[in-house]
Order: sequence, then C-alpha cells, then structure tokens
Amino acid sequence: MIMSDLKGKIWMDGKLVEWSDAKIHVLTHTLHYGTGVFEGVRAYETSDGPAIFRLEDHTNRLFESAKLIGMQIPYDAKELNDAQSQVVKINNLKNAYIRPMCFYGSEGMGLRADNLKVHTIIAAWDWGSYLGDDKILNGIKVKVTDFPKRSEKSMLHKAKASGNYLYSMLALKDALNSGYDEALILDIDDNVNEGSGENFFTIINNTIHTPKDATVLNGITRQTVMKIARDLNYRVEETNISVDDVKSSDEAFFTGTAAEVTPIIQVDNVKINDGKPGEITKKIQKIYFDLIRGKVDEYSSWLTQV
Ligand SMILES: *Cc1c(COP(=O)(O)O)cnc(C)c1O
Repeated sequence: MIMSDLKGKIWMDGKLVEWSDAKIHVLTHTLHYGTGVFEGVRAYETSDGPAIFRLEDHTNRLFESAKLIGMQIPYDAKELNDAQSQVVKINNLKNAYIRPMCFYGSEGMGLRADNLKVHTIIAAWDWGSYLGDDKILNGIKVKVTDFPKRSEKSMLHKAKASGNYLYSMLALKDALNSGYDEALILDIDDNVNEGSGENFFTIINNTIHTPKDATVLNGITRQTVMKIARDLNYRVEETNISVDDVKSSDEAFFTGTAAEVTPIIQVDNVKINDGKPGEITKKIQKIYFDLIRGKVDEYSSWLTQV
C-alpha cells in the first residue's frame, strides 16, 4: 500500500482536498526538523455505523502535545473533532485509522525561524491490525533494546511529537533486524519503559503492572485498559519494572491505538506463559475489542458516532 496513491479526501487547513492534491513544499520546516505533533485515532464499525473511539481525549492530547512544543494550533477542539468525523464519513470508511497532524510550513528555514504558519491535516484510511491479524491473536516476540533510553527528566516524550519517532524507529529497527516483532525500550535506570509506539503491561501473581506515567507517553489505550482491569477487580500498579521482572512474569502485553491489545509471548530468548497469550490478557483484549465496537454499554460514552 503506497500511502500517497490511496484515493479519497484529506482535510487540509479547513478544506477537503483530493488525496493526490494534499501536498507540501520540500522546504517545509517540519520535514527538516521533526517539529510536528500528531495523533493516531481509530474508528470502528458498530451496529449504528462507524464510531470514533475516545475522539475528545485524542484531540485534547493533540493540543497538549502542541503546547509542549510551543505550537499554536489555529483551530479549536470542536473544529478538529468535527473534521475527524467528516473525513471518516466522506471517505465512506467503516473502520478507519485517523491521522491528525500539525506542522510548520515553508515560510522560513533554520531553527530560529519565526512567522512559521501552523498547518493541520487529517487523513483517514482503512487499516487492519498494526502488527498483523496473526500477531494480535497469537502474540509477538519482543527484543529488549538499550538504545536509545528514555529519561523522566526529558518531558518531551509526553508529546506525541514527530521528532521523538526517530528514536522509536531506531529501537524498532534493532528489534526487527534481530528477528523480533517489536522493541521493548528501557529508561535510563534500566527499567522497562514502552514499545516503539505502544505502552507496556506485565502480569505477576494476578497483579497488573505498568510503568509509571512520568516516563511514558500516557496512552489512551493504556488508560482504557487500566479502567477495564480495575472494573474486573484486578489490582493495577504503576511501578518500576525490571527486565528480570518481565522475563519471570506470568503474562505481558502492549497497548496502543494502532497495536490495540497485543499479547507478548517472548522477551529476548525467554518465553512468557510457555509462548502463549495469557488468560488475563485475553480477557482484557476481548473486552477491549467489544467495547470499541459499541458492544459494552457501560463504556459507550467513549464512542462518537460519525
Ligand atoms: C501513540 C503512542 C502510544 C499509545 O498511545 P495510545 O493513546 O494508546 O494510542 C504509546 N507509546 C508511544 C511512544 C506512542 O507514540
């Protein structure tokens, strides 16, 4: 799938444009310096048509990310929420991955450049399981990567900012080159941090552990899964987790809008739960898959019908 060859309409600075016309200049500031913020949002088919999952929370995080990098988005949350619904609808999508993004234009080059215009785009397309249907069912193998490491002192990882993904890509490449499906990134104290674009959970003696939100991108799926788990009466602890904790754990999984709830069945050369997705992981995954499709009434307030 070549992204720029897809058909449909993209919302660009307040207007719907043809997919092939949604272009920018090569001297676009963000292309050179990673000075952008974005979101990954999904819509799923429900019995009442497509619904966007936790739309407002995603849009609020986009504004928070922009604030962290000192960018002023020239729209308000309602305009961006409406635009996201609009792109799903106009492209006749039942299930969609939605990508809002804000970036600086080509008015100036150099880090000092001022008077840069903030542009906003929203694209949406049909995208299946991020790691593949087989992986989401049967689990993935992850490699512990010690380069690069994340630090609590650098708050920038709180922003879903383009430049951060250079690090994520290096970590992922390291894992893929070694035959694994994903990277497990560490922090500077060698605690487990997160995946290249997913939050991490591990289950030890029926207690669900996840790294503290100070050092990770506080994922909306992470928050969703913590709520599901607590509603099921599991203890959820935000705590430091060592690599050894994970290797001796009962279960582990990743969460993210793209990755949804993906079981982890191996860490380095150590199998978790004999190389099979764990029972608690599967239980949480099932509820997550049901609720995003509007099948669980108590969580229906998280859905926005388009
Ligand atoms: C987007 C992202 C996540 C997952 O966040 P969600 O809100 O659940 O999609 C986790 N880690 C990183 C680094 C991310 O970019």
